[in-house]
Amino acid sequence: MENEAEVTQLLECEVCLKEIPPDSGEYLETDDYVQHYCGIDCYRLWKQGKLSEK
Ligand SMILES: [Zn+2]
Repeated sequence: MENEAEVTQLLECEVCLKEIPPDSGEYLETDDYVQHYCGIDCYRLWKQGKLSEK
């Protein structure tokens, strides 16, 4: 039995900074960096921005 229910950390979308309830399931994590997104659209925006950076 896992006991992670006490983790009340609020997640924020890395792009629009919208709060993401941890239990909403509406977030994504990248493999190499733990970041969260409210949806695939924000993830793609972040990825595009990252790629355009040097
Ligand atoms: Zn977002």
